[in-house]
Amino acid sequence: MELKDLTIREARKLLDENKATAVELVAAYMRRAQEKNDEFNAYLEIFDDVEEQAKRADEMIARGEMKPLTGIPLAIKDNILIKGCVASAASKILENYVASYDAHVIEKLKEAGAVFLGRANMDEFAMGSSTENSAYGVSRNPHDTMRIPGGSSGGPAVTVAGDLAIAALGTDTGGSIRQPAALCGLVGFKPTYGAVSRYGAIALGSSLDQIGPLAKSVEDAQILFETIRGIDERDSTSLPDTFFKNGDTPKKIGVPRHFLNEGVDEDVLTAFNESVEKLRVDGHEIVDIELPNVKYALAAYYIVMPAEASTNLARYDGVRYGVAHKGKDLLDDYMQTRGKGFGKESRRRILIGTFVLSSGYADAYYRKATAVREQIREDFRKAFENVDVIATPTSPTPAFKIGERASDPLAMYAADIFTVPINMAGVPAISLPMGKVERDGTRLPIGMQFIAPHGADSSLFSIGKDFERIIGA
Ligand code: GLN
Repeated sequence: MELKDLTIREARKLLDENKATAVELVAAYMRRAQEKNDEFNAYLEIFDDVEEQAKRADEMIARGEMKPLTGIPLAIKDNILIKGCVASAASKILENYVASYDAHVIEKLKEAGAVFLGRANMDEFAMGSSTENSAYGVSRNPHDTMRIPGGSSGGPAVTVAGDLAIAALGTDTGGSIRQPAALCGLVGFKPTYGAVSRYGAIALGSSLDQIGPLAKSVEDAQILFETIRGIDERDSTSLPDTFFKNGDTPKKIGVPRHFLNEGVDEDVLTAFNESVEKLRVDGHEIVDIELPNVKYALAAYYIVMPAEASTNLARYDGVRYGVAHKGKDLLDDYMQTRGKGFGKESRRRILIGTFVLSSGYADAYYRKATAVREQIREDFRKAFENVDVIATPTSPTPAFKIGERASDPLAMYAADIFTVPINMAGVPAISLPMGKVERDGTRLPIGMQFIAPHGADSSLFSIGKDFERIIGA
C-alpha cells in the first residue's frame, strides 16, 4: 500500500469500497513506524493493541456503521489522556503516569472508530518550539533529519510528514500545532479557544491551550476537527455550537505589513508576498491592516504563559502523580522529586512564572501583560471589522538545525512571533504549506498562516482549500 500522500479521504474510500481492511491499513503504518521510528524518534511508544483496535473498526465497517474516521490510524500527542496508557507529556516526572480516563477528544475519536497507533513525542509539557526539550530526545524532521521538526507537537508532525500515521492530534498554546505543521510541510489547525474541550489534556497555559489536528490536507484537518469539537460540561470554557458561524468563503484578506519586517528570512517573506499576490490574482481583495499592539505579544505571552504554567505544574509533587524521589524530610521529598523530574525549560518557566505572580511584582509584570493581552484582542476585533481573514507567515524561518538554538531561549522564543498573538486573542488560525526554501542544499517547507475572528473556524477551511488549489496549480 502506498502511504505517501495518502489522505484520510482516500483511505476512507479504500476502506468503504472494501479495497483494504482497517487491519491491513493499520499494519502498513505499523511496519513503516517500526522501520522508521528509531531514526525519527516520533513515537515515544507504539501501542500493542493496534490490531485489536483495527479489528473493531472493521466490524463497524462491516455493520455499515462507519464514520469519517473509522479505521483511520492516528498519532496522539503525549499530553492527551488515553485511558490505560502512559501520558508523560515527555517529562521524567510523569514517566510512569497511566491515564485513568479518556480525554474528551479521545472519547469522540473512539466513538468514531479511529485507531491510535501510539503516543507522539513533544517538548516537555509542551514548552518549546523544537522538541529539543523532550526528556526522551529530539524528534527529527523527515525533510532533513539534522533539523528540528518544530514544537512542541514535533512528534505528531513527524508521524504525519514521515508517513508513520495518516494524521495526528496536537495541542497549541502559542503555536505548537501550526509551527511544526509549517516546518514539516503539513496543515495545522488551532481552533477558537473553547471550540474543543480541554478535558483530559495535560494543562500548560489554561487560558491559551487548544487541541487540534495536524494533517496532510485541509479536508483531513476539517474531518478531525469536526469529530473532536463540541461543548463539554467538564470544560467550562468550551463553547456551544451556536457560537460558531458558518460563513462564506473569505474574500477580503488583511496583511499586517508593519509586523512582517522583523526577523523574517528574506526568502520566506518573498514566498509570502508571492502567495498573497496569487490570492489577489485569484480574486481575493488584499488590504493592508494595522495591529498596533501585536509587537508586544511575544513579551506578554512569555509572562502570561509561564504564570499559568507555574500554577499548573504545582500539582506535580510526587504525591498524587508520577515518579517520587525520597528526600530527608517532606520538603526535601518535593525538592528531590521536582528537581529530578523537571527538565531545564520547565524549571525556567516555573521560576519566571512564580516571579511574575509574586507579591510586589504581579502588578509590574502579570497584570501589565494581561492588560496588553486585552489590547491585542482589541486589535484583532477592530481589524476584523474590515477584513474576513488575516494572513502572515506561520514561522519567520524554515526548520533550524538541531542544537542551533537550544542554549539560547530568546532565539527559541522568537520562532513564535507570528503564532502567539493568536492564542493571546483566542481566535482560530490555520497553517498551510506555502512552498519551500533552500538551506544547505535541501529544500525545506514553510507555512502560510490565516487567522479568522472568534467562531469563524469554518471560514479557515474555505480559504485553506482555495489556497491549496492556488498553490498547487
Ligand atoms: N513555543 C511556544 C512555547 O514554548 C508554544 C508552545 C505551545 O504552543 N505549546 O511556549
